Amino acid sequence: MEIIEIKLSVTNCFLIKNQRNYVMVDTGYEYDWDLFRKRLTEAAVGLQEISHIILTHHHDDHCGLLHKILEVNGSIRVVMSHQAESLLLKGENDRTHGGGLLNKRVEFLIGLKQLYLSLVLKKSVNKKDNLKFKPYEARDNDIKIMGETRLVDIGLNLAGKIIETPGHTIDSISIVFEDGDCIVGDAAANFLRFAGTKYCVIFVTDIREYYRS
Ligand SMILES: [Zn+2]
Repeated sequence: MEIIEIKLSVTNCFLIKNQRNYVMVDTGYEYDWDLFRKRLTEAAVGLQEISHIILTHHHDDHCGLLHKILEVNGSIRVVMSHQAESLLLKGENDRTHGGGLLNKRVEFLIGLKQLYLSLVLKKSVNKKDNLKFKPYEARDNDIKIMGETRLVDIGLNLAGKIIETPGHTIDSISIVFEDGDCIVGDAAANFLRFAGTKYCVIFVTDIREYYRS
């Protein structure tokens, strides 16, 4: 699968060509709007060419730019887990289903991340806005995924499927393409290993479910 990676300040999102349009997977932090536009221009992709946005889950670093993108192209259909609808409406990272940051070292590093954003990237991230995003109310046209779903069954001419991969959040979904490529959001990670996060993401609602996924 030809996947275009859009690299933002600390996150990535992805574009997949689907006939004349693109399917985008995840967005990014809201403060990355200008960078996002720049990266799209570099990739020679217009916002009007995006037909769908698949959200791997509701977190602020994955859906923060959603409202900005939809302001420009309101015809985009948002694809999400059926579990995501109520979480997107709340406008903050879900903490009502248990779990938390993996350990104390990760908590410390998250503190450093705020420092990095403010000093190195000159992003003013208000602490009170942290882990929040503009609430999104799903529209009639949006697509809610329940169980394993082939991409062709939601109108995408792509060989692959969406599966539910909970554990990081209750609404985590992943895209598995037939050629073996996968886009999994935060359902798999292997960074910050020195902080004890080997083969695990830094935040989990349910660690057993995470590894099962
Ligand atoms: Zn996440």
